[in-house]
Amino acid sequence: MKVNENYAKIPGSYLFSEIARRVAAFSSAYPRREIISLGIGDVTLPLPPAVIEAMQKAVAEMGEAATFRGYGPEQGYAFLRETIVEHDFAAHGIGITPDEVFISDGAKSDCGNIGDLFSVDNRVAVCDPVYPVYVDTNAMAGRAGDYDKETGRWSNLLYLPCMKENGFVPKVPQEKADVIYLCFPNNPTGAVATREQLTEWVDYALYNNAIILFDAAYEAFITDPAIPHSIYEIPGAEHCAIELRSFSKTAGFTGTRCGYTVVPNALERDGQSLRAMWNRRQSTKFNGTAYIVQRAAEAVYTPEGQAQTRANIEIYRNNAEQIRRGLEGAGLTVHGGKNAPYIWAETPAGMGSWETFDLLLHEAGVVTTPGVGFGPCGEGYIRLSSFGDPKKLPTALMRIRAALGK
Ligand code: PLP
Repeated sequence: MKVNENYAKIPGSYLFSEIARRVAAFSSAYPRREIISLGIGDVTLPLPPAVIEAMQKAVAEMGEAATFRGYGPEQGYAFLRETIVEHDFAAHGIGITPDEVFISDGAKSDCGNIGDLFSVDNRVAVCDPVYPVYVDTNAMAGRAGDYDKETGRWSNLLYLPCMKENGFVPKVPQEKADVIYLCFPNNPTGAVATREQLTEWVDYALYNNAIILFDAAYEAFITDPAIPHSIYEIPGAEHCAIELRSFSKTAGFTGTRCGYTVVPNALERDGQSLRAMWNRRQSTKFNGTAYIVQRAAEAVYTPEGQAQTRANIEIYRNNAEQIRRGLEGAGLTVHGGKNAPYIWAETPAGMGSWETFDLLLHEAGVVTTPGVGFGPCGEGYIRLSSFGDPKKLPTALMRIRAALGK
C-alpha cells in the first residue's frame, strides 16, 4: 500500500497556527492585556433574521411526512438555482442559465474539487500572495511539483507577482498557463480588477486555450459601479471561465455553509463539456447541500434578506474605512479595503511582516496577519480584516497609533 506521496511534500499550515502560538504565548505572559483581533477572515455578525426565519420554516417542513425531503438533487434545488440566476446574473444582463449553476457547501470545497477536472500535466498559475487553498489542493493532486523551502515556491506552479507596482493585479504572463486562479476582490490584498484587466485575462485564456477559475467570494463588497462582479461580464468568458461564489461573506454563512459554482455550457476542452464533467463529478462524489441551508440561501435574495445582508456588509465596510483611516493616521501606507473587506498595509520602513505582527501584538495588543504568510510577495505587508467588532475598532486603532509612535 502506498499513500498519496504528494501530501508529504506540503509544508504544515504554518501561518494561522504560528499566529495562534504567538497570541497564546503573549496572553499567557500578560493575562490582563485585552487582545483585539483584526486578523480574522471569519464574519462575526449573526445571520440575518430573514435567513433564520427561512431555516426555521425548512426545519419544520423536515419534521412533517408531507414536506419531508430526503436526498436532494446533487446540483442543488431548482428554486435556489433559478433565484441565483435571476438576481446574480439576469439582473446584470448576464445570460447564465440555472443548469449551469451548481450549489455546494461553500467555495472552499469547490476550489479544491474543481481540480478533479484537470490533467495532472497542466501548468497552473496562481497569484503571489494567494489564498493558500489554490496552491495546496494542486500540490495534493501532484500538479505543483516540489516545494522549495528557501523560496517558498512550488517548482511547477507559475507565480503571478501581485505588488504595489501592478496595483496587486497581475499582468498576463509571457508564458502559457493552462489553469489560472484569479480572485477579485482579492484575499489577501483587497485589490479589485477592472473590466480592462479582466478582459486581458479572458483574451489570454481564449488565446491559450486555458481556463480561468474566478473566485468571486467577496463580490458583495464591491461598491464602485465600474468594477465587474462576475467574470461573465467580460465577453467570451463563458468559453474560458468557471466562477466560484459563496454565501459566506455575502450573508454570514461561514458556519452554515453554502456556495455555488458556475460552469457554462459553452465551456469545452479536448472535445469535452466541462459542465457535463463537473455534473458527473458532483453526482458521483457529492450528495447535495442540506435542504434547510438551500432554503436559507434562497432567503438572502428576498427583499428583506437583501436589505438585511446589505446592512451587515455596510457595517463591515465602515469598519474597513475606519481601519484604512486609522492606519494612515498611524503613518502606514494602506491598500485595499475599498471594494473589499481586507486592508493590505505596508509595514513600517525596514520592518518585515512578522516583525510588524509582533510589534502590534506586544505594543498594541492587536492581532493582524503577516502578509508573507500568503506568499513571498506578501513580505513587507500585513493584512487587516474588517470582520471584527466595530465597538473595539477605535481602541485598536488608537493603540496601533501609539505603538507606531504617532
Ligand atoms: N475563496 C476565498 C478567496 C476565501 O478567502 C475564502 C474564505 O476565506 C473562500 C473562498 C472559502 O469560502 P467558503 O466559506 O465559501 O468555503
